[in-house]
Amino acid sequence: MSKAVFLNFPTHGCLNPLLATATELVSRGENVIYYCTEEFREKIDQTGAEFRPYKGLINDFKIENDDLYKAAKLSVEMTLDKLEYNLDDIRKDNPDYIIHDSLCTWGKYTASILSIPAVNLMHSFPITKSSVSATYKMLPFLFKIGIYKLMNKLLRNSSKKRLKKRYNIELSLGDILINKEDLNIIYTSKQMEMNLYNSEKSYYFVGPSLFFKNDETKFPFERLKDKKVIYISLGTLHNNNLPFYKICLEAFGNRAYFVVLSVGKNTKIEQLGNVPGNFLIRESAPQQILLDYVDLFITHAGMNSVNEAICKGVPMLLLPHQFEQEMIAKKVFELGMGEVLSIKTITSKKIFKKAHEIISRPNYKMKAQLYQSIFKKDEEESHLKAVDQILEYVRICKNSRQVNNSHRF
Ligand code: UDP
Repeated sequence: MSKAVFLNFPTHGCLNPLLATATELVSRGENVIYYCTEEFREKIDQTGAEFRPYKGLINDFKIENDDLYKAAKLSVEMTLDKLEYNLDDIRKDNPDYIIHDSLCTWGKYTASILSIPAVNLMHSFPITKSSVSATYKMLPFLFKIGIYKLMNKLLRNSSKKRLKKRYNIELSLGDILINKEDLNIIYTSKQMEMNLYNSEKSYYFVGPSLFFKNDETKFPFERLKDKKVIYISLGTLHNNNLPFYKICLEAFGNRAYFVVLSVGKNTKIEQLGNVPGNFLIRESAPQQILLDYVDLFITHAGMNSVNEAICKGVPMLLLPHQFEQEMIAKKVFELGMGEVLSIKTITSKKIFKKAHEIISRPNYKMKAQLYQSIFKKDEEESHLKAVDQILEYVRICKNSRQVNNSHRF
């Protein structure tokens, strides 16, 4: 039995797919300590791991819509904050290995400072150098990163300089975007893989992981029966978008569809004004169960949401907000399970027309059902495959360390 410390970036999207793997490690007798923020305690308690709240000043990850630059800047500040406040505690835990997600840069560096193995569990696609340079859309982001690097050179006490001085860490753009380790596990099916990653042998597609289901007891599913249902959600990070929700009300209000709209906790439902009778609006919907009732999912193309929709055979209208969501959306389109629209130029006419088209033409649903069987089968085994990979990797690292140590004496 070994001791694992999970370090998770505090968002639902980063956390959800890791929960089944944590549960499986616990059931195989591993001692698992799980660090995240208080908001996620309840979810983590369900895994059987020991929850530890992060100490530090920055415990909330709020980023406005698609600002990758702000996300990257915050990532540097969070890495410094989490190392300063938690590294000593983790050192005392004396873990054998670290498991972190692809945004948790302090996970990668905690492992490297403690000289122990680390595994990167990815809720989304790896963004490699080739994929970054493959799109002109990254240019404004790369430009801002250039300015940020320059600012850090000029500022005497910048987070980047403090990271270097205290921990000898030079956080690269690659770390912020992928957090690559020697073992990187991706929670989606191989069908989503792109040619861009064929050369990357350390990425292992285990399949979707849908362990967490939120409370559905108060949701009026009976109102959805015998109706054509559209479900709209922009996920948990990019959901502060009142103008978009108003467009949806205008597009689908008093039409022949019943619409469930999840607006997130940052939008007050009263701000939407008069709500048409064919709308059901919630701060959060029990998405995984709701998808059983849905004819079309209008989504921001987050990896978890897309995996969940495919596992239920639901076609999608995708409105990606940021780079990796664009890649996911493109892939869903190529596989014939949906259509993509730009959130920036969306209008009530455009969204209604596309939604109506996807629901009316059977080919989208047929393709979604085709991939449903593959994804569902993968989903049943994803946590088992992930844990097999992790334990084998840790065993190899341990053995090679023993060999190295025996050479030393
Ligand atoms: N989710 C949910 N109810 C909602 C909105 C989202 O249960 O009303 C869940 C959804 O099932 C998914 C996660 O939140 O598991 C969102 O993850 P995703 O990767 O799709 O997007 P992110 O929130 O990370 O942008």
